[in-house]
Amino acid sequence: MKKHNFSAGPCILPQEVFQKSADAILEFNGSGLSLLEMSHRSKDFVAVMDEARAIVKRLMNLNDDYEVLYLGGGASMQFLMVAYNLLSTNGKAAYTNTGTWAANAIKEAKRFGNVDVVGSSKEENYSFIPKDYSVGSEYDYFHCTSNNTIYGTQMKDFPEVDTLMVCDMSSDIFSRQLDFSKFDLIYAGAQKNMGPAGVTVVVVKKEILGKSGRDIPSILDYEVHIKKESMFNTPPVFPVYATLLTLQHLENNGGIAAAEIKNNAKAKLIYDEIDRNPLFEGFCAKEDRSTMNAGFKLIDESKKETFDAAWKEAGINGLNGHRSLGGYRASMYNALPIESVEVLVNVMKSL
Ligand SMILES: *Cc1c(COP(=O)(O)O)cnc(C)c1O
Repeated sequence: MKKHNFSAGPCILPQEVFQKSADAILEFNGSGLSLLEMSHRSKDFVAVMDEARAIVKRLMNLNDDYEVLYLGGGASMQFLMVAYNLLSTNGKAAYTNTGTWAANAIKEAKRFGNVDVVGSSKEENYSFIPKDYSVGSEYDYFHCTSNNTIYGTQMKDFPEVDTLMVCDMSSDIFSRQLDFSKFDLIYAGAQKNMGPAGVTVVVVKKEILGKSGRDIPSILDYEVHIKKESMFNTPPVFPVYATLLTLQHLENNGGIAAAEIKNNAKAKLIYDEIDRNPLFEGFCAKEDRSTMNAGFKLIDESKKETFDAAWKEAGINGLNGHRSLGGYRASMYNALPIESVEVLVNVMKSL
């Protein structure tokens, strides 16, 4: 039986995507070849890559000032690529420190130059989104994390900054409508809300590149990847294709607007129960609660065994909190049906 999959990532994808991905592995487009054995330079795959890049721009409503790249190395690779490409040799960058991933991004950027942490919730165990800061033009760029996967906080508004705006959207990309043109560079590892592990989408405004004054190794240079249309080296063909299928599914089902309505309904359902049920409490500031990852814990730890047995019995997978935080985390990415959240809420109610 299919589980109710609340895994934080790799995450649930639409069932149709699993089916079509499986079909493509056996035979792609009636070509007599598996997707896994065909040249990435073949007409069939070049068409996949072209459409995978185009659909991101359509969904984000972005014009041709932007380029879309599919890169290997995970979102973690972008922690250093961003700095390598955008942080000038004696410049400085502004970062917010809102969670483990943000802290990792800061750590890598520091290898390339000066980093000022303009807002941090580290001392409060990352339980809120810092908001009182400003970022001036003395910075080469500002970097933020839109959704903090481990702690379950999410930026509801983005600051007006006087420099380039860079955002790690790994765990809430395409979950809600945003003015994506406010950003100069967006990146997201596919495996949270967009596809399988193995590929990262980067959306970048072309005009910001080539200004850092650094000699960037080819494979880390966004301009090289743009010139080669994401085919500088062999791209991760299967994750690219499965990501395309996921985005087509999104586009064919009402786009981001429809996904956002569903995501808000799922989040309301679980947070209402967390707040209503005296046995549970949430981890973070209510106004900053993520629609994607809801973190909570049992107030009475003696109920743990009963609760854990009950949700497993109900066919729920992936509810344990991140190993650094404990408790529970319900990740409710686009593909998770609201029925799965209802199952979880019913288990919480029955405790
Ligand atoms: C998971 C995650 C990452 C790391 O992604 P990898 O693809 O594993 O490198 C970075 N940022 C955020 C917000 C994440 O959730």
